[in-house]
Amino acid sequence: MTAPALFWFRQDLRLADNPALEAACRKPVLPVFLLDDEAAGTWRAGGAARWWLHRSLAALDTALRTRGAALHLARGRAVEVIPALAARIGANEVHAGLLYEPWARKRDAEVAERLRAEGGTLFLHSSALLHEPHTLRSGQGRPYAAFTPFARALFGKGEPPAPFRAPQELSGLELPGLALEALELLPSDEPAWWQGMEESWRPGEAGAQSRLARFMAEGLRGYGEGRDRPAIEGTARLSPHLRWGEVSPRQAWHAARAAGAEGDHGFLKELLWRDFSYHLLWHRPEMPEAPLARRFEAFPAVRDMRLLRRWQRGRTGFPLVDAGMRQLWQTGWMHNRVRMVASSVLVKHLLQPWQDGAAWFWDTLVDADLASNSASWQWIGGSGADASPFFRVFNPVLQGERFDPEGDYVRRWVPELADVPRRFVHRPWAMPGGPPAPYPTPLVAPEEGRRRALDAFARMRAAE
Ligand code: FAD
Repeated sequence: MTAPALFWFRQDLRLADNPALEAACRKPVLPVFLLDDEAAGTWRAGGAARWWLHRSLAALDTALRTRGAALHLARGRAVEVIPALAARIGANEVHAGLLYEPWARKRDAEVAERLRAEGGTLFLHSSALLHEPHTLRSGQGRPYAAFTPFARALFGKGEPPAPFRAPQELSGLELPGLALEALELLPSDEPAWWQGMEESWRPGEAGAQSRLARFMAEGLRGYGEGRDRPAIEGTARLSPHLRWGEVSPRQAWHAARAAGAEGDHGFLKELLWRDFSYHLLWHRPEMPEAPLARRFEAFPAVRDMRLLRRWQRGRTGFPLVDAGMRQLWQTGWMHNRVRMVASSVLVKHLLQPWQDGAAWFWDTLVDADLASNSASWQWIGGSGADASPFFRVFNPVLQGERFDPEGDYVRRWVPELADVPRRFVHRPWAMPGGPPAPYPTPLVAPEEGRRRALDAFARMRAAE
């Protein structure tokens, strides 16, 4: 009789194009998901991501059952639970997708060690990225620190391998585990802040595939112009599906090619930004906590909880930022252009530490991903790899007028401004009589905020 294998689902919650599952599924297999908050520590999934995970696990279990297996759920320390489960089913092979977060690398090394001591092996398969970070080096033999040469090198390597189909049948082992509710992923607090997420998303592989197909049919062609317009659905909205591995980046890549994306099409470049963020996280594991450009350790940010709270609640007085922060709160997602402006305002106009903004995003984004989130916050704050120069400060009014010219996005998310005429919608404080109550005046005048940010930067440089 063939010895069984244990398949450990982590951030690859799909059946198709899953190399780890492909390796495990030729044997009788026990598919396991384990919630290991202890190992993740500070980086345990935030509130919105946990909501997503709950729904995605339910979808995964349903999909597995149609193929002859069921998801075994567990909670606890992987270093104990995984070897114990393997021993219980008599498996000496454990297969999983590679992870890149520093805490996960450390934890996986411990699991591998424990399994080895008991005669087993942990096989980690590449399944989350287009290219593995440890295999890529620049011409100087170092990891890449800038996106353009990174992307050029990857486009130069040719196409990623074609994705493959889900196994038709699995020979699943039955071993009762926890009920999904016992993972306590769903929030119990009132009001039900996740209601808008329920209406906006369909977590799971089937939802990911239908989102992908829809974007390829309706969005890809106009992506170049549409991607910067937050009022329309001009981007793929695949980020939470990619985050949880419900779709693989090479499925997205090849779907785009099949739908007509040629050369270095913008959508493919965005997929490479994701890979680049992981490349940075792999080579600079301190990225989530510390500035990559060390000089920014001396940046004179002044933590002010009142300012932070106003930003979190979408009450900065800058309509584009407030619309974005409310879209985030209600749906767990924010348009990329607005993420850039909202994060820039927090770090530059309001002089708050980027880590505080990143922590809020971590808790509220359904796509919160340690690599992309910390790389993007550092990029905006000027301390990241390949960051735009600090003195380029986004003006939230001009950004609004350029990318939301009719004010439709603002009006959708900030009902107080629903009746404000177009010419005032991004500067309601300039209306005769001021902004309609209770909408606030800005926390700082845009030019004053810019000047303060540049002064802070100059002080940091003077202290070097
Ligand atoms: P599309 O434009 O359709 O792009 C396709 C895919 O490419 C995305 O799903 C995503 O996986 C990837 N991608 C696009 N832009 C970027 C980028 N700049 N960096 C890395 N990958 C990218 N993205 C996350 O997935 N998780 C995060 O936690 C996250 N935090 C961010 C924080 C800040 C301050 C900023 C400015 C950006 C952040 N992003 C993050 C990047 C980007 O905003 C989202 O990936 C994008 O908005 C997702 O929407 P989409 O799927 O419609 O993107």
